[in-house]
Amino acid sequence: MTLTPVAPLPEHEVRVRAPGKINLSLRVGPRDEDGYHPLSTVFQAVGVFEEVVATPSETFELTVSGPQAEVVPTDDGNLALQAARLLAERVGIDTGVHLHVVKDVPVAGGMAGGSADAAAALVACDALWRTGLSRDDLLDLAASLGSDVPFSLTGHTAVGSGRGHLLTPALTRGEFHWAFAVQHRGLSTPAVYRAFDELHGHDIPAEPDAEADVPLMQALRAGDARALGAALHNDLQTAALELDPGLAEPLAVAEDAGALGVIVSGSGPTVAALARSRQHALVLAAAFTASGVADRVLTAAGPVAGARVVSATD
Ligand code: ATP
Repeated sequence: MTLTPVAPLPEHEVRVRAPGKINLSLRVGPRDEDGYHPLSTVFQAVGVFEEVVATPSETFELTVSGPQAEVVPTDDGNLALQAARLLAERVGIDTGVHLHVVKDVPVAGGMAGGSADAAAALVACDALWRTGLSRDDLLDLAASLGSDVPFSLTGHTAVGSGRGHLLTPALTRGEFHWAFAVQHRGLSTPAVYRAFDELHGHDIPAEPDAEADVPLMQALRAGDARALGAALHNDLQTAALELDPGLAEPLAVAEDAGALGVIVSGSGPTVAALARSRQHALVLAAAFTASGVADRVLTAAGPVAGARVVSATD
């Protein structure tokens, strides 16, 4: 009798991709009693991706690879592990999961890399455990993990209010091309908000002024990159520059290289420069590299979709 060799079963794994984001506009209201600032923001998901690979495990564990992997916490402080635990609790799963995160979004860069990992972990574990939860259930869990996590799930372009977690999709036309100057030194989001309070504490309007973004929304609808460049806005930029004055350099380099607009992304320190075209984004990236004002340089287009399964094996 001859034995037919049997191919080993592929390990059950789910692979999910989730994008980083930039804030095309970020308007900040005064701190509330809980210490949070109400926001009016316009998010855009851009093609810089985190990948999370979920495989069955008896315990909850996490490994990380990619640029800056060594500075990412792998304990319960990691938002992706918190997401997996939260989902397991919600649906009564009594096993664990191994999450492997392949990072590409800058760490502590104002592009919501941790939130992307949390959204990717939710989608991956949801598929691995076949929970049957609805999209709205996942969005609720996402909101309880962090204000940027719901947007990492939905992607594209959206207006965020509340703490940034209440989302309304925005109409856009075509693609916008970006170059990013990334700094490895990072900026702490709470520190940037504290600096914002110190700088602007007395003259912050009671409500962030969403009306001020009408020209930006028109530019998005028209696919008009030039008008979008003129309408980019970030209330946290002065505070980020106060904490990290070196950020003035990539801002100036992008302007000199003809960026249609340039802005600190979220709480920084990543600087996002809007280009006229894909080729021009490469020119802006080359200018960042040549002038030595960034630890890493990226280009990407937006908008792109939120966290999605890219492959799954049973
Ligand atoms: P945001 O734009 O939402 O303020 P960010 O992009 O500035 O976020 P993150 O990279 O998400 O910042 O992480 C900020 C901090 O959170 C890190 O310095 C790290 O200590 C911690 N952290 C927790 N989970 C993660 C994760 N999965 N990836 C990276 N950092 C994480």
